[in-house]
Amino acid sequence: MDAAALHHLDLPAFDGAGGTVTLPGSKSISNRVLLLAALCEGTTVLHDLLDSDDTRVMLDALRALGCGVRHADATTVEVTGFGARGPAPQARLFLGNAGTAMRPLTAALAVLGGDFELSGVPRMHERPIGDLVDALRALGCTIEDLGTPGYPPLRIGRPQLRLDAPIPVRGDVSSQFLTALLMALPLVATRDVVVEVVGELISKPYIEITLNLLARFGVQVRRDGWQRFTIPAGSRYTSPGTLHVEADASSASYFVALGALAATDAPVRIQGVGEGSIQGDIRFLEAARAMGAQVAAGPNWIEVRRGAWPLRALDLDCNHIPDAAMTLAVMALYADGTSTLRNIASWRVKETDRLAAMATELRKLGATVVEGADFLQVTPPVQWQAATIATYDDHRMAMCFSLAACNHAGVPVRILDPRCVAKTFPGYFEALYAVARLPAPHVPVVCVDGPTASGKGTLAARVAQQLGWHYLDSGALYRLTALAAVRQGWPLDAAHEHRIAHMAERLPVRFEADRVLLAGEDVSDAIRTEEAGMNASRVSALPSVRSALVALQQSFRRLPGLVADGRDMGTVIFPDAQLKVFLTASAATRAERRHKQLISKGIPATLPALRADLEARDARDSQRAVAPLKPAQDALLLDNSALSVDDSVAQVLAWWEARQPFGAA
Ligand code: C5P
Repeated sequence: MDAAALHHLDLPAFDGAGGTVTLPGSKSISNRVLLLAALCEGTTVLHDLLDSDDTRVMLDALRALGCGVRHADATTVEVTGFGARGPAPQARLFLGNAGTAMRPLTAALAVLGGDFELSGVPRMHERPIGDLVDALRALGCTIEDLGTPGYPPLRIGRPQLRLDAPIPVRGDVSSQFLTALLMALPLVATRDVVVEVVGELISKPYIEITLNLLARFGVQVRRDGWQRFTIPAGSRYTSPGTLHVEADASSASYFVALGALAATDAPVRIQGVGEGSIQGDIRFLEAARAMGAQVAAGPNWIEVRRGAWPLRALDLDCNHIPDAAMTLAVMALYADGTSTLRNIASWRVKETDRLAAMATELRKLGATVVEGADFLQVTPPVQWQAATIATYDDHRMAMCFSLAACNHAGVPVRILDPRCVAKTFPGYFEALYAVARLPAPHVPVVCVDGPTASGKGTLAARVAQQLGWHYLDSGALYRLTALAAVRQGWPLDAAHEHRIAHMAERLPVRFEADRVLLAGEDVSDAIRTEEAGMNASRVSALPSVRSALVALQQSFRRLPGLVADGRDMGTVIFPDAQLKVFLTASAATRAERRHKQLISKGIPATLPALRADLEARDARDSQRAVAPLKPAQDALLLDNSALSVDDSVAQVLAWWEARQPFGAA
């Protein structure tokens, strides 16, 4: 599946889980250390940094402010801070929907001063920042509301700081306001600076992360309970030189849950975060244990198996694990009674109103849900419903609800806009497929068979892309086999059949995006020549070569599904496919398409010759003893002579949809 937008993703119900997943770096830690590195003198090397939408907007902002940013490799970034020099005097920063960029940058830039404009996506402009702005104004910062007062976008000017009195900040809407102040104030702590929290502080663990990271950058904040924080006079940021970012403990929660729900055999092992974590969400493990999960953990890993089954219902104050608690809400679907998650009012001001969103979507699955002002009560479904889950541009909604696919009723789940996971975990679904288990015969397959030049390759690839599935171009395997044999100097005839078949069985092939690698060498172009096609046709007529390639072709049947094209997909390779399409077009139309194709490649060709050629090949193909070209009995015929590619794709998707149990969103 590529990174292109995907309207929806259907997850078949899994029937097990096991294996290892390595998690990406934590968003909260990544964005904090990026900013801290920017505020330091010198260069900080950040390892295992998360690469996601939210960290990308932070990196863009830091560049705009004059920091040096160098990607040493995919997950290592070197940040050269502006330190005492200060940021660029002027910048317009677009911060997407990243609260972890908006809040701390607002505070840091407001105390440093300049001419800055901070904005984001429309949802960012609905997420409150007024309490932070009030605190910053009280300390002498100049901040102008450019839209609704109390919400971004904001303009920041030059401050006249008054650091003598304690700075009050509300702690009961978002802990990010306090985090933002704690990160900004060391920049101007010419004297002891005191911050006083007004109201009960929520999400304390996030403040612990902040204090922990400040210490790593040389600033020791004194804390009196959770009410009063003192930044000592003379505090200065100093780079730790190198820092490793822990994996995201909230992201770990989905795999902990998966283990608790489905790892009946081998455990699900999570790599990158463990017992020693500085992230509060690691305490999700306690909640998972309370529900019955069998959890083992070390400094940098967690292993989870299913314990109690069904899970035990839970009644828990979740204030200490606000993000991971969403995962508990979905685990509650598998409990032996009603679960209650309390003290989660902060859900209302996250990426979406998560309390309302969670209640609405859980109900679609058949659960009974009570949505309180600051609590959620979930009673498991009596009967699971195939639901179309809306995700509200909220990564955690998409990730949580994928766990609904662990149901034993065999009911699939449809996740709308699944790519919204890119906010914190772009490879989430791929990681899920790697540890979720489903026997191959249950993984859905759509086959597209048909004669040469009917356009089945284009159609199948497009359908796969729209469904977010894998794609098997079986012709490429014959082309590869022929190429490998030719390179050995073997004639492609019956006398060499067994040798070629033996090699085909062990073909060292890898498909990467749109590239085909044979023993590590990129042969994408080499297998696409006319000659390679002719040779493929020759080896494909050898019965032992065909049988040698069966297992390889079937191995492409993996979660979440496969679209396979080739003449015998629906008849020989996947006779149990859930949908079979036999694509045809008149010989005249196909000849015209091939003609265009060849001419565009600069290869001379004439229409009548091509047409005669195709007709002869059709006749030969349908009469040949080995894998004759014929539609499977249960195939749907699609004559695309008068259809555009879009029309054909739409038709196949409509046929597929008609076999799905999902209602409207
Ligand atoms: O589809 P493509 O042109 O890449 O296929 C190359 C040749 O391989 C075809 O002309 C056909 O003879 C053979 N083939 C086959 N069975 C398949 C796919 C391709 O015999 N499943």
